[in-house]
Amino acid sequence: MIKRLTLTALGLVLLLVLVLVGRTLAPRPAPPPAAAAVPPVPVDATAAVGRLAGAIRIQTVSEPEQPPDQAAMLAFRTYLEQSFPNVHATLTREVIADGALLYTWKGSDPALKPVIFLAHMDVVPVDPATAGQWTRPPFSGDVDGGYVWGRGSLDDKDNLMSIMEAAEILLDNGFQPKRTMYFAFGDDEENGGYRGARVIAQALASRGVSAEFLTDEGGAVVPGSMLGIASPVAIVGIAEKGIVSVRLSVSAPGGHSSVPPARTAIGRLATAVSRLEAHQMPARITPALAGTFDAIAPELPFPRRLVLANRWLFGPLIVNQMLLEPQTAASLRTTTAPTIFQSGIKDNVLPTDATAVVNFRILPGDTIDGVVQHIRDTIHDTGITVAPLTTPPGRNPSPISSITSAGYRALQQTFAQRFSGVRVVPNLLVAATDSSHYGAVTHDIYRFSPVAVPADALEAVHGINERIGIDSYVKAVQFMAQLMRNAQGD
Ligand SMILES: [Zn+2]
Repeated sequence: MIKRLTLTALGLVLLLVLVLVGRTLAPRPAPPPAAAAVPPVPVDATAAVGRLAGAIRIQTVSEPEQPPDQAAMLAFRTYLEQSFPNVHATLTREVIADGALLYTWKGSDPALKPVIFLAHMDVVPVDPATAGQWTRPPFSGDVDGGYVWGRGSLDDKDNLMSIMEAAEILLDNGFQPKRTMYFAFGDDEENGGYRGARVIAQALASRGVSAEFLTDEGGAVVPGSMLGIASPVAIVGIAEKGIVSVRLSVSAPGGHSSVPPARTAIGRLATAVSRLEAHQMPARITPALAGTFDAIAPELPFPRRLVLANRWLFGPLIVNQMLLEPQTAASLRTTTAPTIFQSGIKDNVLPTDATAVVNFRILPGDTIDGVVQHIRDTIHDTGITVAPLTTPPGRNPSPISSITSAGYRALQQTFAQRFSGVRVVPNLLVAATDSSHYGAVTHDIYRFSPVAVPADALEAVHGINERIGIDSYVKAVQFMAQLMRNAQGD
């Protein structure tokens, strides 16, 4: 009997090993479509870089909670007209809301669904405390040392100007799209896109536009070492987290601090916030993260490939490991970040109220309503008022876009043609973009810049010494032109 049990156990172990190894060595996902050798479009690099530099010099800054700077936006719009005469002669341009721009490049075949290219004109302010640390003045647009320097060079005037350059060049070469293409440029992305992107998206939806796919900022082309593999990777966001800030407030009788009650307003609220930190929303591997694992697994060393290929068994291990670091934990769960805590006016006065604001970045699958319910269940104190902030309003997470769609295949093909050896890796974007407003216009939204960025330059986005390599920018222009061609589907 014992012998038989041992044999059965051995058989099970053997079966397990076979399944694990089988799954690890299972046929890899189909390689991207073979990249036919297509020469890049000709780019006058000096002129193109000069135009990007000029765009950086126009200070289209979005100050927090302020409407777009109308004068700067008008100057930028005029600059685009002067810089891209072909585009302005052929495409229709609409100024939407006060200053957002929508260009329509009409395709010859109205039966084909359009494609939308997004970018934003505004940039974040330069922190006065760090202005002196810039190697070049932040709005100089200096071209030096192989770079174009300045705020907006990576976020997001590189994308905007490369879309325009690509269209200008294609027009120069007599290109006529079969599929209608829209270029949609918001003017307040850094403040949530509620005045620009949201209104453009509403206009398109009201016209019945249903797009084949849409591209926007998000990932970049980065060294594979950031994901533990050898090939460079093009990170493409196929989903983005939602966001909501929730105010917690409590009132108390107040009075003199010499006779405090057992529970003060500050004590109650501190307990609530502390519980929220201790009891986070559940972690899980979303389909977007699974897409990341599947894309990098074939290049990983065997033990790590074994783990990633057998998530049915090792899922909890992966989750526990990733929760150890804030960077990776953010891809696994709705994050909880207390950002404001206010109470009290004097050292010997019991405050009559206390308020906290907690910012949540919502994982696909969770919702704003679910977050509010989680707060109520966790703090377990009905005396604390829980209310989502309405300005800015929260956003639910995006749906997850397909990685087998015609749009994604066009991206893979274009990356293969313009970035030899790069591996396209889908991921979940933990930040928010203008594309989140376009859910009613298309199912397939891809968030990336076709820009090679060294690991140490990524922190320059919204930071100090934002700059783009000249070669990287020229390549981005060539990528956009190729994508516009490939998107025609012929
Ligand atoms: Zn941006």
